[in-house]
Amino acid sequence: MISFNVPPLVGTELDYVKKAIENHKICGDGPFTKECNAWLANRFGAQKVLLTTSGTTALEMAALMCDLEPGDEVILPSFTFSSTATAFVLAGAKLVFVDVRPDTMNIDETKIEAAITDKTKVICAMHYAGVACEMDTIMDIARRHGLKVVEDAAQGVMSTYKGKALGTIGDFGCFSFHETKNYSMGEGGALLIRDPEYNERAEILREKGTNRAKFFRGQVDKYTWVDYGSSYLPSEMNAAYLYAQLLEADRINNDRLASWNAYYEAFAPLEQAGKVELPALPEGCVHNAHMFWLKLHDLEERTAFIQHLKDNGVLAVFHYIPLHSAPAGLKFGVFSGEDVYTTRESERLVRLPLYYGLTEEDRNTVIRSVLSFWK
Ligand SMILES: *Cc1c(COP(=O)(O)O)cnc(C)c1O
Repeated sequence: MISFNVPPLVGTELDYVKKAIENHKICGDGPFTKECNAWLANRFGAQKVLLTTSGTTALEMAALMCDLEPGDEVILPSFTFSSTATAFVLAGAKLVFVDVRPDTMNIDETKIEAAITDKTKVICAMHYAGVACEMDTIMDIARRHGLKVVEDAAQGVMSTYKGKALGTIGDFGCFSFHETKNYSMGEGGALLIRDPEYNERAEILREKGTNRAKFFRGQVDKYTWVDYGSSYLPSEMNAAYLYAQLLEADRINNDRLASWNAYYEAFAPLEQAGKVELPALPEGCVHNAHMFWLKLHDLEERTAFIQHLKDNGVLAVFHYIPLHSAPAGLKFGVFSGEDVYTTRESERLVRLPLYYGLTEEDRNTVIRSVLSFWK
């Protein structure tokens, strides 16, 4: 059976984890956390990057930094992972779901403005499959209405929009290093901060509400509890594991892109024949091959397609059940306007095996199995 996902492993992880242990420093914010923060900031041109315990907690930090009050509204797509929503619900917001555009499955930027009310405070843009949302339009809307922009770039590490790294365009960006993502530390993530005025607040939030970071820099002579907060620091062992992978980021990215491109080339004739739809890459978007999806005609055909692949030893999966129709979505949010694409397109979409180290042989088995569905 060809797995749907295999967590990335470059081979040097154990050496770095060993170093973390030998340093006798395994709690958060040690040398490896700092190396990861610096690597991410340099590589992506980010003003400030803070490693977190997950993509979810990076989103929670971002939501807390938006200073939401009860009744405030956050605009987000319904076609996304639950974490995009729960972060804002925990911060007290009401969710306003906006439809997606079918070519990228990202939030439809042309439908955002109609969802804005005098309660709206934030637009959350999730970059599906590592392909950027239309950020120029989104940033322009946010500027004109005085809204903050949070980028859920959990899937977008190493992707760019018009030359800018995803996660660095909005006020806050959130990465995930879960084992299902392109770069991993088991569980982990990072918060990217655009404006330096938020740096201190973020440090306090992730250090249990204390000004400990300032203390360690010698800026205060004792540290104390100054605000609300939590613990968002990953262990040094996890940071060391991630650091090994970041040093191989280009190798991982190129390997994934090779598989993605092979799939795209093999399935382009199916698209031309009207049998499937393939992902679009709008102008200015450079992606990171986070996933390869295609769309069948409807739910019934997709079910048969997934079964066909399974019979041929290939595991393919689908997602997401739209959040607005889920029990919690009904409780915490509303859909703005008409759901033209979110539900319909989510029922047609299927994802193929794609991971670092997928062999050419396995890739060809996937391709043959897909093509044989129409024979
Ligand atoms: C993976 C993912 C998250 C959550 O990341 P974790 O590190 O698993 O907490 C959030 N949003 C999206 C879109 C994701 O794909």
